[in-house]
Amino acid sequence: MSPVYHTVYAGFFSAVYGSVTHSLWGSVLCFVSGILMDLDHLLDYILAKKRLTFSYKTLLSYFGSEKSGKIYIIFHSYEFIFLLWLFIAFYQLSVVWVGLAVGVTTHILLDKFHNPIRPFVYFLTYRMKNKFNKESIYPEDYFKRMT
Ligand SMILES: [Zn+2]
Repeated sequence: MSPVYHTVYAGFFSAVYGSVTHSLWGSVLCFVSGILMDLDHLLDYILAKKRLTFSYKTLLSYFGSEKSGKIYIIFHSYEFIFLLWLFIAFYQLSVVWVGLAVGVTTHILLDKFHNPIRPFVYFLTYRMKNKFNKESIYPEDYFKRMT
């Protein structure tokens, strides 16, 4: 999902969250985490290309056109999100933390239902099992669909 759509959805979810909880910082964290979660794509690009880019077109080309390479997307992991919710519940953390968790959870669910990927891609363990190889992680027709 593109950064523009993530920004729009993060704005919507943070507004709803803020109106329900009346927590300004919870709402802010919901918004920010709902967008910045995609920074892990930038980390993957830096690891692969040994350089930094802020060009969305360049990132899209790397993730949508180049068949070889690794895809770690470390923040896009159900396991970490589950641990975050567990951490919040166990320590009974404030609505600010819950705002963070709502932001990342809605982000990954939007990605899950919008991006043309295999069903288990957002499990870190699945990506590890497939050695983080793009070809093993993306569906057969992924690159055809992305062009
Ligand atoms: Zn994402």
